[in-house]
Amino acid sequence: MSKTLPRRTLIKAVLLGGAALPLAKHLVQDAEAAPMVDPNDAVAKSLAYHADTTKVKAAEFATHKPTQKCANCIQFQGKAADKQGACNLFPGKDVAGAGWCKVWAQKPGT
Ligand code: SF4
Repeated sequence: MSKTLPRRTLIKAVLLGGAALPLAKHLVQDAEAAPMVDPNDAVAKSLAYHADTTKVKAAEFATHKPTQKCANCIQFQGKAADKQGACNLFPGKDVAGAGWCKVWAQKPGT
């Protein structure tokens, strides 16, 4: 015994799906499109944000270690393997996963 959907139900599903697709695509693009923090921005400078932790000068930041990076910082909102992600200190912007700033703190479990 085969069960078929009524034509009206099928047409509604197609129309709703068609309307939802551009919205979903827009949301995904927004999630990916956060601008990167500019290291020359005033807040970034005050925190000594570097987009690449390997470029931090040991002479200037004695407590810095090369293993410290945004991706393993407690303020980083992305996953450990993400190349960029949100930081609680820079609302609406992304920091580099390989970045660093002077308030870095180890994320538990990383
Ligand atoms: Fe990177 Fe952490 Fe500094 Fe944010 S607080 S910029 S995640 S080191």
